[in-house]
Amino acid sequence: MKIFCIGRNYVDHIKELNNAIPSSPVFFLKPDTALLIRNRPFYYPSFSTEIHYEVELVLKICKVGKRIQKRFAHTYYDEIGIGLDMTARDLQDSAKQKGLPWALAKGFDQSAPVGAFIPVGRLKDTADISFHLDLNGNTVQRGNSGLMIYPFDDIISYISDFMTLRTGDYIFTGTPAGVGPVKIGDKLEAYIGDEKLLSCLVK
Ligand code: MG
Repeated sequence: MKIFCIGRNYVDHIKELNNAIPSSPVFFLKPDTALLIRNRPFYYPSFSTEIHYEVELVLKICKVGKRIQKRFAHTYYDEIGIGLDMTARDLQDSAKQKGLPWALAKGFDQSAPVGAFIPVGRLKDTADISFHLDLNGNTVQRGNSGLMIYPFDDIISYISDFMTLRTGDYIFTGTPAGVGPVKIGDKLEAYIGDEKLLSCLVK
């Protein structure tokens, strides 16, 4: 199982981190050991002092595919959920400065908490999915799939030109503005619409 993550897919988030708008989707991978499920707690790792949350819609891939055309891309996922792309921002900033990969900053153990999934058929319009993240009861991030620079079908088509998608793979589709640090004791709760799908305590 692979976990793909799209970076820089919402204009407001690109601006808050002073990045450039990409001319094609930016993606990276997390290993399967990054996955954190069943609302288990996230343990703050010792190698970072600046762990950030990034709430993102997550696609679950339902069949094998490569070089998928955009017009067929929607048939390759049947569930959409919500996840957190936990990021060691201090390690990422250092890697960016040195032009080094993001594996440590993005792929560490437990860096991909994922909540419950919704069957696509239950969503009215996949191009209009509202989601948000609450930190200790206060909403800190709000997004809508309609605001993505590269929508789901573009992402699937692009990734599959390079890497085969397999059943059970996840695609994190990028975060809107409002990313920020967590500390031990924080509670993160992520919603699609008004349905809470993920709860994660920082320990
Ligand atoms: Mg992200």
